[in-house]
Amino acid sequence: MDLNLTPQDLQFRDRVRAWFAANVPAQPPMSLDERKAWHRTLYDAGFIGMGWPQEYGGQDARPMEQAIVADEMARAGAPAPVNSLGVGFIGPTIVVHGTPAQKARYLKKILTAEEIWCQLYSEPDAGSDLASLRTSAEDAGDHYVVNGQKVWTSSGPIADWGILLARTDPHVPKHRGISCFLINMHQPGITVRPLKQITGGSEFSEVFLTDARVEKSDLVGRLNDGWAIAQTTLGYERGAGNLNRVTHYMVSLRRLAEVAKTLRRNGRTAWDDPLVRQKLGQAFVELEVMRYSALRILSGLEKGRQPGPESAIAKLYYSEFDKRYHELALSILGPYGALIEGTPDALSKGTGDAASDGASDETPSWARDFLTSRAPTIYAGTSEIQKNIIGERVLGLPKDLRADRMK
Ligand SMILES: Cc1cc2nc3c(=O)[nH]c(=O)nc-3n(C[C@H](O)[C@H](O)[C@H](O)COP(=O)(O)OP(=O)(O)OC[C@H]3O[C@@H](n4cnc5c(N)ncnc54)[C@H](O)[C@@H]3O)c2cc1C
Repeated sequence: MDLNLTPQDLQFRDRVRAWFAANVPAQPPMSLDERKAWHRTLYDAGFIGMGWPQEYGGQDARPMEQAIVADEMARAGAPAPVNSLGVGFIGPTIVVHGTPAQKARYLKKILTAEEIWCQLYSEPDAGSDLASLRTSAEDAGDHYVVNGQKVWTSSGPIADWGILLARTDPHVPKHRGISCFLINMHQPGITVRPLKQITGGSEFSEVFLTDARVEKSDLVGRLNDGWAIAQTTLGYERGAGNLNRVTHYMVSLRRLAEVAKTLRRNGRTAWDDPLVRQKLGQAFVELEVMRYSALRILSGLEKGRQPGPESAIAKLYYSEFDKRYHELALSILGPYGALIEGTPDALSKGTGDAASDGASDETPSWARDFLTSRAPTIYAGTSEIQKNIIGERVLGLPKDLRADRMK
């Protein structure tokens, strides 16, 4: 793709810049209702699900237009939208695999955040080895009956609907007996128990399903074809949302540079230290690498390609960057980096963190984001799993080198 801005792109950028200058709220929205209202404002302006097909409420926007909006959001310090799982990868999965009735029923309300979505894949004994999942869905004539337990369900406490993987045939090899469903979270058979995180918040949860009901019409794709559908979800989850992530890091990095200019140590500011400036510059360079990698994935989507295993490279890169970045932030902040709350305004974090799914109502802080920075190396597949995928499916290396040597 051509990464230079055309005259039309420049006009579009100016319009978007003017829109954000006029519309970003003075106080960041904190409660869920306020966040939904801000999300709705972004949707009405055409900035949510920009890459989605027009027939499903998107804009069919080109990757460059999406990149411009992401950049301008960062420049304006705009708060993140909500329903990131729905917009980022559950909606796109329904676009690819859903029936016309499912698309008509669910997609628009995902975009507008009228319905918040969660992902019910992981279980206590099925995380990296997801295909071992044991939650079952049994055919009860006109509907399915679901029993089992899910865990680490992001946005679970606020979700209206979930995308669910459940075993529908226990007698075949494990990958072949799984199906994918859409499930209403507001029903007697579902109990959501929020999990308390090290940050103090509860953005994710355990979900217990006891004779929960799924309508026959809410089976996604064919029966027992859930594994293939999960690959679509995970491909989008690992790759497609990265541009927004870069945006939020850029906001944060700009803020960190301001903090470094304010914070005085040993008679000079942190910014006066060439090593600090070098590390901030290095973070900027890494973010640019992430931006181009995200654009490459978007460019593939523009050509009709679904994100493939190469999304694992983007996922591994941003997860490990997140840890390095927040270690850098804390090393600059010194003792102030230990404050979860009460950081002086001049040194505070300002806007939300890159990993947020938009469900949090906590005030962002450097310390809280440092603690959260461990999470991306685990969710959407751990860093070790991404390395396995890159080795096997991108580089074509043998599956198990040691076993190979022993032959
Ligand atoms: C913040 C957060 C949000 C999440 N949100 C969701 C969600 O919304 N929905 C959802 O379904 N799940 C969610 N998850 C769950 C996440 O997908 C799992 O935690 C992840 O897949 C790892 O599974 P596990 O925790 O069972 O660890 P395990 O799979 O038990 O792994 C333990 C360790 O062993 C390593 N390991 C395992 N297998 C291999 C292997 N084959 N090769 C090399 N190393 C290996 C892992 O890398 C890890 O270090 C979330 C997790 C987090 C942390």
